[in-house]
Amino acid sequence: MSPKRRQTDKPQPLEGLLGREPKLRQRMAQQLLSFGLVLANSLMLGYAVLLARTPLGWWLLWVGLALTVQLGISLAVRLGWTARLPDPSLASTQIGLMLLLGAAAYPLSGPLRGLVVPMMMLTLAFGMFAPSGRAMLRLNALGLALILSAMAFDFWVWPGRGQPAETVGHALFAMVCFPGLGLLLLRMARLRERQREQRQALNEALTRINRLATRDDLTGLYNRRHGKHVLQQALQRQKRKPTGLLAVLLDLDHFKKINDTKGHAAGDAVLRCFAKALHQSLRKGDTAVRWGGEEFVVVLEPTASEGLLAWVARLKLAIERQPLVTERPELRFTFSGGAAFWRPGETLEQWLERADAALYRAKAEGRDRVIEAS
Ligand code: GH3
Ligand code: MG
Ligand code: MG
Repeated sequence: MSPKRRQTDKPQPLEGLLGREPKLRQRMAQQLLSFGLVLANSLMLGYAVLLARTPLGWWLLWVGLALTVQLGISLAVRLGWTARLPDPSLASTQIGLMLLLGAAAYPLSGPLRGLVVPMMMLTLAFGMFAPSGRAMLRLNALGLALILSAMAFDFWVWPGRGQPAETVGHALFAMVCFPGLGLLLLRMARLRERQREQRQALNEALTRINRLATRDDLTGLYNRRHGKHVLQQALQRQKRKPTGLLAVLLDLDHFKKINDTKGHAAGDAVLRCFAKALHQSLRKGDTAVRWGGEEFVVVLEPTASEGLLAWVARLKLAIERQPLVTERPELRFTFSGGAAFWRPGETLEQWLERADAALYRAKAEGRDRVIEAS
């Protein structure tokens, strides 16, 4: 189990409300923030409506609509309905609707209607969560168009409620603030985009470095250094719970002759072919390591139903089925092996030494065989 997984297994604070998955929690935290903004806006508008003697029904309608939008979107996000959408936090939709409601607050607010533009700015600041800089700019333009329309509407419906100069002032203020905030947010969106790209490049580089550090270039199997580490870990597990672990040291027979007669490239192809067959013959949990040159170490966890001989037969069959062997029979090769079960108390070196001695015997007894250490 990875440490990351274990971390999320712990109960998270406010799990019922925010969920468990980190990305969902982040989206829900955003929703809570937006909830706070809706409530603050509702209270301020209530005060403005009282001062302006606007019929209270308008305020109730506004609050009802704002809460419905907020609750509906929060619920959709929390239940995961939006998880597969390109904008899973529904930021653009939510900001768009809140801007519409913000602009609608202007004609209702009477003497306090000058506060509507700053409140809409605050809503637009949530644009930093919009899926892209362009989406954020669109929202900005929408906000400006809405508030200017609301001002014109206000002037038309209640012409006596404010000085025309005041409305013009508000309009000018909006025309400066909306593009200003838009440019600022666009810069932030670009910075975030660059950060995201850098993070991705870093992750890719780490994956490559990790592969270079742990894998053998030619065969793709574990290299000796990492293989040793994996073997040590397997040993530690055996020390805690001995279930039986078998190491097999494998060496290709007369490999030098292949190099000498068919060329080094053919030798490389044979090594890759053997590694592929080895990989195909293993089960999950087994380990294959290129120990060096044409020598390999395999660690198997034998089960009652399948022992060493069955695995050797499977490996031979896998070799016979490799395209290199079927297409170029002159490159057919054999291997010898020495196998040793781990004995409690034995170090990795002692264990592999016994396998090596068995391999030596397999070579001495005519090659193309696997011998188990006594
Ligand atoms: P034996 O049956 O006793 O194991 O004989 P052998 O010829 O396989 O063993 P020997 O140790 O004499 O030769 C191993 C050869 O493997 C020598 C070396 O040049 C070659 N070799 C080691 N690494 C590579 C490699 O990455 N590519 C190629 N093509 N050859 C390699
Ligand atoms: Mg050798
Ligand atoms: Mg050899």
